[in-house]
Amino acid sequence: MLYIDGMLGEGGGQILRTSLALSLVTGKPFTINKIRAGRKKPGLMRQHLTCVNAAVKVGNAKVEGASIGSQSLKFEPGNITAGDYNFAIGTAGSCTLVLQAILPALLAADGPSKVMLEGGTHNPFAPPFDFLDQTFLGLINKMGPTVSASLIRPGFYPAGGGKFKVEIAPSPLEKINLTQRGDILNKTAKALVANLPENIAAREIKIVKKLLGWENCEIVNAPDSNGPGNVLTLTVKSENLTEVFTGFGVKGVTAEKVAKRCAGQAKSYLASNAPVGKYLADQLLIPLAMAGGGTFITQPPSRHTMTNIDVVKQFLNLNISCTEIDNRCWQISVEK
Ligand code: AMP
Repeated sequence: MLYIDGMLGEGGGQILRTSLALSLVTGKPFTINKIRAGRKKPGLMRQHLTCVNAAVKVGNAKVEGASIGSQSLKFEPGNITAGDYNFAIGTAGSCTLVLQAILPALLAADGPSKVMLEGGTHNPFAPPFDFLDQTFLGLINKMGPTVSASLIRPGFYPAGGGKFKVEIAPSPLEKINLTQRGDILNKTAKALVANLPENIAAREIKIVKKLLGWENCEIVNAPDSNGPGNVLTLTVKSENLTEVFTGFGVKGVTAEKVAKRCAGQAKSYLASNAPVGKYLADQLLIPLAMAGGGTFITQPPSRHTMTNIDVVKQFLNLNISCTEIDNRCWQISVEK
């Protein structure tokens, strides 16, 4: 039984999700304490509980402590079962984070799966659908498996009700080296509004054009979303990967400010020459660990990345090194 400290490093839900994912993949049981103890609302929230329940289902696992607010959990995995799954969070909690907990297991399953997820699809502090689809799954597909995601309806905080489907054809993950971006093929901006005036999106695009000089920009209206929402998505498609940067409309923050912050993320990525952005870096560690190796160059590692390295090393006997190349680029290598 592995003992995981939920307060380790960054101390968030990622420690739980990585533990669930790698427990299913390795067959190693674990106990986690002090789950999200440092967060404003500690313990399991509805989204984390959905991760646990989804992992129990996919991995025929036994669990103790799976209830709202619980700060400790005991998880004993069984056999991974491919199949058709439907997981609804019941709040605007992030569907992509639920997928983080179960996708590694379904990639290692002995047959194809289909997963329908319902809740938030575009949440702050979580991978937005476009990032999942283009950035993360884009790379998973390069590593062997075939995974496709289709957005049925976007869901924003607080209304939720978003939906997407993921289809997974597993295959062993192969090592990947992402030390260069290759040529940049295109840079595109999409400003989406759901049940809000289109003028918000138009103002965001105006700032993107002014600050980044990008020409390929579109405004998308999503009236079918359950509530209001606004998201600006900036996509940099390069030969070797696609990176996605996101800005969320927030009440009381001007559209110009939202766009300026998002443009700043894209600008700093483009200035660094690192192919892998800071969010992708922490998420890429799991497929690399499952592949038994790989290397990437990224922007200075976040606390999420450093924490995820610690958790991965508790489940798998791997060397993971982080080396500073210059003040904008770090190399992270996973080796057996
Ligand atoms: P936690 O805060 O522990 O729940 O983990 C949040 C997860 O969401 C991490 O894997 C982050 O990399 C990911 N994440 C947060 N914001 C973004 C973003 N804007 N784009 C992509 N991934 C994100």
